[in-house]
Amino acid sequence: MRVYSPSKHHSISFLFAQFTIVCISILMTSSKHSAVVGLASKSVSAAVQKASASTTNNVYYWFRLGDLRLHDNPGFNRAVADYCCAANTQPKNLIPVFCFDPRIFGGGGGKQDVDHHAAPRTEVSGRIKTCPRRAQFVIDSVKDLRQTLQHHGSTLLVPTNSKQTPEQFFQELLGGGNTNDHNTLIYQEEVCSEEQRVASNVAKLFSSSEAVWGSTMYDLDDLPYDLPELDNLPNTFTPFRNQVEKNCKIRKPLTIPRGMNDSFTAATNTNSVLEQCSKNAIPTLEQLGYTPEQVTEAKTHNPKGVMPFKGGETAAIERVQDYIWNKDLLKNYFDTRNGMIGADYSTKFSPWLAHGNLSPRYIAMECKKYEQERIENKSTYWVVFELLWRDYFKFFAKKHGDTLFAAGGTIDSNKEWKHYEKNVQAWITGTTGYPLVDANMRELAATGFMSNRGRQNVASFLTLELNEDWRYGAEYFESVLLDHDVHSNYGNWCSAAGMTGGRVNRFNIVKQSKDYDQHGEYVRHWLPELQNVPTQFVHEPWKMNQFQQMEANCQLGVDYPNPIIKPFVPNYKQGSRSKGDGHHNKNKHNKDRRRNNNNDSSSNNKNRGRGQRKDMKSLKTGRIDMT
Ligand SMILES: Cc1cc2nc3c(=O)[nH]c(=O)nc-3n(C[C@H](O)[C@H](O)[C@H](O)COP(=O)(O)OP(=O)(O)OC[C@H]3O[C@@H](n4cnc5c(N)ncnc54)[C@H](O)[C@@H]3O)c2cc1C
Repeated sequence: MRVYSPSKHHSISFLFAQFTIVCISILMTSSKHSAVVGLASKSVSAAVQKASASTTNNVYYWFRLGDLRLHDNPGFNRAVADYCCAANTQPKNLIPVFCFDPRIFGGGGGKQDVDHHAAPRTEVSGRIKTCPRRAQFVIDSVKDLRQTLQHHGSTLLVPTNSKQTPEQFFQELLGGGNTNDHNTLIYQEEVCSEEQRVASNVAKLFSSSEAVWGSTMYDLDDLPYDLPELDNLPNTFTPFRNQVEKNCKIRKPLTIPRGMNDSFTAATNTNSVLEQCSKNAIPTLEQLGYTPEQVTEAKTHNPKGVMPFKGGETAAIERVQDYIWNKDLLKNYFDTRNGMIGADYSTKFSPWLAHGNLSPRYIAMECKKYEQERIENKSTYWVVFELLWRDYFKFFAKKHGDTLFAAGGTIDSNKEWKHYEKNVQAWITGTTGYPLVDANMRELAATGFMSNRGRQNVASFLTLELNEDWRYGAEYFESVLLDHDVHSNYGNWCSAAGMTGGRVNRFNIVKQSKDYDQHGEYVRHWLPELQNVPTQFVHEPWKMNQFQQMEANCQLGVDYPNPIIKPFVPNYKQGSRSKGDGHHNKNKHNKDRRRNNNNDSSSNNKNRGRGQRKDMKSLKTGRIDMT
């Protein structure tokens, strides 16, 4: 049972029985919203009885996929500072653990992997859940985490049997200890049902446990909405943004806690299973069930990709340092963010954020520092604004639960989606005949990354042009994205499909291509067959006649596909707005562009397309407000 703090404005305390100690009250200060499972259904007297023999006090910090870091990690801080090293309490053994869950990792070409274990699959389309590239990113993150922990005097325990679920592993582990041990579990709270189910199964095995809020830029407790359900969280982003920016401040990031020690060794003396666990080994991709081909794919960096991504907190902090300080790119973010080629047009923080290698509050703090030390402008705020989108989708997922994964989305729409596998395959393989869609989809398949501009276009194309069930798109992204984050992915997809009740942006792909890839540099980068197609036709090759196709070495239907659906003109259905079509309020649009051009500090920016609007009415700027 998960018990939330009774009041937002009061710290909570709970008791737990220990050897010869009647009770110890632990003041919970780091997050008012820690979800606590104290002695759960066990009675205090039973626990006291249990503690009457020789007892070891172990605090297990269970790192999960969303918090693989030490800096600004509220859950880990709590485990060390409030449980292990709290003044006036008996010191406890700190045991940091990470488990590779076989329900998440594993590949294999067919339905079964090499060891004949069914590889975990997504629900609707049956894709492998984690592509080998992302699995490698996690392996690197775990290696880095262990090194950092070791540097601070602790270590990281990783089960050597990668076929064991966390439930099985912890069950065995706790069974291997003294039955009188008092074992506490601390971990970061997650909001989606799959993660919650596993956590609740694991937590039941412990004498006491606590789920601590982390991962968002704004703390859950600071929001102006009702906890725990967030019933009054707005269903669209803009009112959320206005309310949060008006009423809340971003808390300062926490520093790495002091006082970690190698209590792992002490604990192993009393636990036979712990003794057999590895402080050094980490499973390989092969051990996680990926095929040799997949392993090679994961380890090869495609030089056409935006940049190589290596998992781990160390690489994450290096990227922040590089993007903000060394390359001094933050001041131009607003103008470059819609680019598609290279490392510099946007931050590329997402793979690290998705795995919790990087704290959003740390990024906000660096942006604030940059404003104080270098320059403050719309760009310096805009990165924090984008992080607010990330927060929003996590809170949105918390509010809406499993409806976020339903075909009818959070509005329970009865729209009948089509499913035509051939179209989905053309979309996945980048053979739709629409160069912008194809280039982006090939980039994704080859690297695990796609720009935000690309993601919006390919999502609009699949759901609003092909009318395919949006979950096929979301699940494909879930499988292959390096930065897959369940809330941002399903939130963005559900919203792109018009299933959240917000404004629906139907993108005119050709117009978007011309606006954001004026010279066709991006589509040629990923579609070699369009290499010699003149710029005039590069975004609509179907307009070439036979002679022009011959001249361009690009015969339609042979070298490059004919479009799988008729090139469209946007339709203005009620409640939907077409993006990048140039039709809505054209005069106003041109007027804004002229005005912006007068004051264009970065008009030579090659990442900006011809028609890229620098500003939009709804995009008012704000400021970074930190405690
Ligand atoms: C259909 C679709 C699916 C997406 N799936 C994911 C996903 O699985 N994981 C993910 O991290 N992002 C997802 N996004 C959001 C966005 O495209 C990526 O965060 C961004 O492209 C990552 O590049 P960046 O770090 O350079 O972003 P930047 O432009 O530098 O932005 C900085 C950070 O802000 C956050 N952010 C920016 N835009 C969004 C957004 N629309 N929603 C949520 N957070 C945002 C990200 O954490 C990002 O790293 C998705 C967007 C769409 C349209």
